[in-house]
Amino acid sequence: MQFDKLRNNLPHSWVLFCMDYGQNYNCHFQDEAQSAHWSYQQATITSIVAYYHCPDDQCSEVTRESMVFISDDRSHDHKAVHHFVTLANEHISRQGVQINREIHFSDGAGSQYKNKSSFNDASYGVKDYGFPVEKHFFGSRHGKGPCDGEIGVLKKCAAVAVKGRQVIIRDAHDLFKYGQNFLSLPRDVQEHSHAKRTFFFVREGEVLTDFRMDATFVGKRSNYALKSGMSLEMADGQEADATSSEANGQTKPTYTYAKGSFVMCTWQRCGDNLYKWPSQRDVSWEPRENVVCPLDFPDLANKREQFRFKKSDLTIIEKPSSSRTISI
Ligand SMILES: [Zn+2]
Repeated sequence: MQFDKLRNNLPHSWVLFCMDYGQNYNCHFQDEAQSAHWSYQQATITSIVAYYHCPDDQCSEVTRESMVFISDDRSHDHKAVHHFVTLANEHISRQGVQINREIHFSDGAGSQYKNKSSFNDASYGVKDYGFPVEKHFFGSRHGKGPCDGEIGVLKKCAAVAVKGRQVIIRDAHDLFKYGQNFLSLPRDVQEHSHAKRTFFFVREGEVLTDFRMDATFVGKRSNYALKSGMSLEMADGQEADATSSEANGQTKPTYTYAKGSFVMCTWQRCGDNLYKWPSQRDVSWEPRENVVCPLDFPDLANKREQFRFKKSDLTIIEKPSSSRTISI
């Protein structure tokens, strides 16, 4: 799907997003406690440029709205992206825009967008927002995409204003206030406009970190796409529902998952039965329906701290059930 083609022929009730994520801005300021010293605080800037049909029934124009999210939270992950998208959708809906489908374009480079969990988020579109969400990536030749420049405008204007002593920007919130006061469009909020720019401030800690089941991978990240029956440990504080469903005339057994237990999720083919704890905490978000069954705690297999699961468990793992393919 091509971005320009879609933008120029946008179906009614579709929203097109172009996303540029997570640039840093250093807020240089003179430290009042140590007046001789300059220090800085970092802000992150994310931009979503949205295209949607003007909500005015009498008007057939497409609105371009640049939404700029400024945060003092420096975590650059898909949860933050999910949060910004949620805010963007709420904001667009409040203007009376009906959304039946949403298409997200971004450059494929950052880990923020092109990872398994982001694809999961896309599959959650209907559940989270009430409409399907599709993700697409600009080819590498496209550079940063057509929304590149929105973050640059803010950075450049802020730098000029600070230099000219028109404004003091000490932190992310000051940067947000500057953008809101000087760069918002249209200047008069009542104006019927198809070129908008809106600023949002996202406070540190505002991004929900437990909006979805949280499971810790056992196994090296580089391997997990190749294995099926990847074991997962339910993270502390989470408890999965007992699942029971009838699909294709087959009744799935009902399990209850305790906190900290190992569970099996549907994955691609399995390799050898050796797993290693990742050297760093490695977290993924799995839809509940992908959790197949509980597993016994794995046994230590050798002196290299590799573990293996019981044979009886492996037969469940290797059984080709409703395994699905996940792009990474
Ligand atoms: Zn209009």
